[in-house]
Amino acid sequence: MKTGDGMRTRFYNARILTMEPGRDVFLGEVWVIEDKIIFVGTEEEGRSFCELHKGAIMIWDREIDCKQNLLMPGFKNAHTHSAMTLMRSKADDLPLSDWLNTQIFPVEAKMTGEDIYHLSKIAILEYLTSGITSVFEMYLTPYTVADAFRDCGMRCVQTSCVNNFSQSVELLEKYYLELNSRDAFNSFLLGIHAEYTCSKELLEKCAELVHKYKAPFWAHLQETEKETKECIERYGMSPIELFDSLGLFDYGGGGYHLVWTSDKDREIMKKRNLFVVTNPGSNLKLASGIAPITKYLECDIPVAIGTDGPASNNCLDMFREMFLVTGLAKVKDMDARSVDAAEVLKMATVNGARAMGLDDCDYLAEGKKADIIMLDLKQPNMQPINNIVKNIVYSGSKSNVLMTMIDGIIRYENGTFNIGVDPEELYSKAEEIKKRIYD
Ligand SMILES: [Zn+2]
Repeated sequence: MKTGDGMRTRFYNARILTMEPGRDVFLGEVWVIEDKIIFVGTEEEGRSFCELHKGAIMIWDREIDCKQNLLMPGFKNAHTHSAMTLMRSKADDLPLSDWLNTQIFPVEAKMTGEDIYHLSKIAILEYLTSGITSVFEMYLTPYTVADAFRDCGMRCVQTSCVNNFSQSVELLEKYYLELNSRDAFNSFLLGIHAEYTCSKELLEKCAELVHKYKAPFWAHLQETEKETKECIERYGMSPIELFDSLGLFDYGGGGYHLVWTSDKDREIMKKRNLFVVTNPGSNLKLASGIAPITKYLECDIPVAIGTDGPASNNCLDMFREMFLVTGLAKVKDMDARSVDAAEVLKMATVNGARAMGLDDCDYLAEGKKADIIMLDLKQPNMQPINNIVKNIVYSGSKSNVLMTMIDGIIRYENGTFNIGVDPEELYSKAEEIKKRIYD
């Protein structure tokens, strides 16, 4: 198993799904040098590639026979709060406002940056088992979150949870400047917690930052009917209309959840090139509603998928989310044709990468980052192989994830982790933190 930098890995005898438009699954090879993919093609094309690059003798550190299993781009979990692993199965079966005010905020007040570092790593283990190679994160201590992702070698795009009670616009700017130039694994986009936790003054200051850096802007947005109605009562506008009127979306961005949107909201979303990050598991468990995914697709508004945090889901599993996106859309529309599997898989990979600003992590293609997963097709839930894309979305599960490679390094393979720390150590740490905070 790979442990250092500068590795050269050849995957051969693989079924390959590049996720490029119009390209079907084919049998071939993927070659990785350091953090990048240098070749994707058939075995024969590989031979021509070598002839073309005369003198470039391919010497591999590792050659992996994929046994005709599937290589594809890793999943992008486009909304999560990783360190909420602490509250997993401790804050359930409550309405969102009670959940937040009685079970989440008081516990968060006791969490330290170091707690968040270790608790984020528990989530990272879970992401790896689900074939997730990058996450769009929002939590309380961005620096220790960034440390956790860097130390485990996982890609993390953060936004802030600035609100009236924690963090500040000054800190938001500091995070933006520092976390975008820190290391290869971390980046940062401007954002806030949500309209209902931010004053208008705070939003106006954020708009100044958006214009100063010509940057996209993100927030929890129109997740519940209550939140949306209350904003309309306060300002005579929905959160989307309010943000747009303040110039917060002048450089794009998007929102998490977006369950309760009107035609007018969707017009603004289309005009401002906003992304939707849908979180169906969380929306179901907190009884927030079913997002109008078909309406977004009709308006050409790109949709990505997130798990949300482990306190509101409670698992960090992209397979479950993918099934829910299409299953719920079908029921909402009362039409089994709604949101087909290919569309869902695009949301979980390509659209997630675009939303997060990770344009070099979307496809398996020459020059792209080597964020690659291998799915086991030799399991009963994947047989027979009539249609691989449909199998992944409708019958696939994390038990099919054989390998997760990020930035050219295999971080998870055949049930074993390679993140520089023994999972048992992390589980003990989480128990310790749990006892200190809850007992
Ligand atoms: Zn959230």
